[in-house]
Amino acid sequence: MSLKDTYTLSNGVEIPVVGFGTWQTPDGDVAESSVLAALNAGYRHIDTAAVYGNEASVGRAIAKSGVPREEIFLTTKLWNDAHSYEGAKKALEESMTKLGVDYLDLYLIHWPNPAAVRDSWQEANAEAWRAMEEAVEAGKIRAIGISNFLPHHLDELLKTAKIKPVVNQIYLNPSDAQEAVVAHNKKHDILSEAYSPLGTGKIFSVPELQTMADKYKKTVAQIVLRWSLQHGFLPLPKSVTESRIIENGQLFDFELSSEDMQAIDRLKGAAGEAPDPDTKAF
Ligand code: NAP
Repeated sequence: MSLKDTYTLSNGVEIPVVGFGTWQTPDGDVAESSVLAALNAGYRHIDTAAVYGNEASVGRAIAKSGVPREEIFLTTKLWNDAHSYEGAKKALEESMTKLGVDYLDLYLIHWPNPAAVRDSWQEANAEAWRAMEEAVEAGKIRAIGISNFLPHHLDELLKTAKIKPVVNQIYLNPSDAQEAVVAHNKKHDILSEAYSPLGTGKIFSVPELQTMADKYKKTVAQIVLRWSLQHGFLPLPKSVTESRIIENGQLFDFELSSEDMQAIDRLKGAAGEAPDPDTKAF
């Protein structure tokens, strides 16, 4: 396997098994050079979002890379200020303009229950989704999905959705593997993408992982990302450091034993947990 291998989503679209994360990557030179480094290292899947503020730089890097657009899987997300039919239509156009592309591979509702629509999130999501479905029908987006959705958010969306979500991007690493959410995703043929696969850096403080890295002669990042892949998740590691970007893509020349997979599963709670989308202040 390699960074260019794919999972097939429930709508038939192929998605590279590792994505490159860009949250907290500053707009401008840093975003541009790190996305270029990722594409040079062989990544073919880039994950950004309107709220990250770096779509323009991500788009510039893609254009400069020389990699044909159709070989890159590009995801962006609808932010919390646009949970309505008209809002989503406008936000999608703005994201595509900033990215400089005429289609997206994947567009996600970033957050199921924004504070601004906390008393009407069901209708807000249904309306945003309707705009996203129209964009699929118009050929602007190849796949649509959700992020941070718990089972009750998904069940509500499925009551009105004509097109089913194919991805749920959630906080997912050994410290919080969100078993109930993953099982619910699976039941609905939804691929679980693993955001913060390194716990936004916190995972490096878990001593058991260093012991395991020594055993396999790999790094902690590689052990944790390999754990994610062996569970069938799609990890989205972020880095602005070229050597780490390369390291995080070298995951295909070793395999964790089932005993070691289980030992990593037991690290629950060691370094952070998923946010609760129903109570956050944004
Ligand atoms: P992460 O990938 O879990 O961890 C990134 C941190 O680890 C950075 O501080 C990075 O440092 C460091 N790092 C990366 N590789 C390393 C290595 N090999 N050795 C040592 N340190 C390393 O962080 P994340 O940004 O929270 O999550 C990844 C992506 O998931 C995001 O960028 C975003 O695309 C997505 N995400 C989505 C949501 C959502 O709500 N949908 C939320 C969070 C994240 P440097 O960058 O300084 O190298």
